[in-house]
Amino acid sequence: MALTWQEARITAAAPETPRVRRLTLAVGWSRPFRAGQHVDVRLTAPDGYQAQRSYSIASSPSRPEAIDLLIERLDDGEVSGFFADVAEPGDAIELRGPIGGAFVWDPPQGGPLLLVGGGSGVVPLLSILRHRAEAAPAVPALLLYSARTQEEVIAREELIRRDAEEPGFRLMLTLTRVPGGRRLDAGRIGEALAALGQPAHTFVCGANPFVSAVSDLLVEAGLPPQTIRTERFGG
Ligand SMILES: Cc1cc2nc3c(=O)[nH]c(=O)nc-3n(C[C@H](O)[C@H](O)[C@H](O)COP(=O)(O)OP(=O)(O)OC[C@H]3O[C@@H](n4cnc5c(N)ncnc54)[C@H](O)[C@@H]3O)c2cc1C
Repeated sequence: MALTWQEARITAAAPETPRVRRLTLAVGWSRPFRAGQHVDVRLTAPDGYQAQRSYSIASSPSRPEAIDLLIERLDDGEVSGFFADVAEPGDAIELRGPIGGAFVWDPPQGGPLLLVGGGSGVVPLLSILRHRAEAAPAVPALLLYSARTQEEVIAREELIRRDAEEPGFRLMLTLTRVPGGRRLDAGRIGEALAALGQPAHTFVCGANPFVSAVSDLLVEAGLPPQTIRTERFGG
């Protein structure tokens, strides 16, 4: 069935990190969304110029009528700049979705789940983690998350709380722009696999160079390529 553009209203907006803004949108879906999927948004200027971008859904499918998007402001970013500076609660934007058939996780798929996110690439992984906690908390899951600094960690308090409270969940943070910081490397992948065991499903999301580098490391670590799913945000 072809997806049609619909009007979605922004019902709330709040800073998530210094560079990421959380927008809540009231949406009327023609079908339910699945954890990991994204939407397309389209902006139209008064002269008719249009810009269209994709944004992953951060919230859980258990709350389909109000989705959270987490949008990182990019320097000179056309659409992310609009959402960072201009969009406000009450505004309506054009949206279509849900989109994505491969980068999704449903509880019957089970686990263990290895989720690897770089920067805002953690957004669809948050939807998966939130859904897992509600619908399949016995499924083991590990989030390996690379961020620049502590203050740029998206959903930081929630992730730390889940790590402390959920027996099946483990958070491993890697910070790149702090003294002694490091990028995800073979050693860190090895630590994650030792902590989780062999994952049944691995989801990797972030900017193109991040996804390429991590996918190579995962295959070098022995994971079957067909168990690794990727989502590339561009860049
Ligand atoms: C399936 C999918 C899901 C996505 N989900 C999210 C999400 O949840 N949150 C989010 O913040 N973004 C997400 N993105 C990225 C988003 O679609 C836009 O590409 C991003 O917001 C930049 O758009 P812009 O108009 O602000 O920048 P543009 O004006 O298009 O580009 C500005 C500059 O940034 C560079 N650039 C563009 N995209 C990126 C990028 N991702 N990383 C680094 N540099 C880039 C461009 O080359 C250019 O130099 C997703 C992308 C895809 C394909």
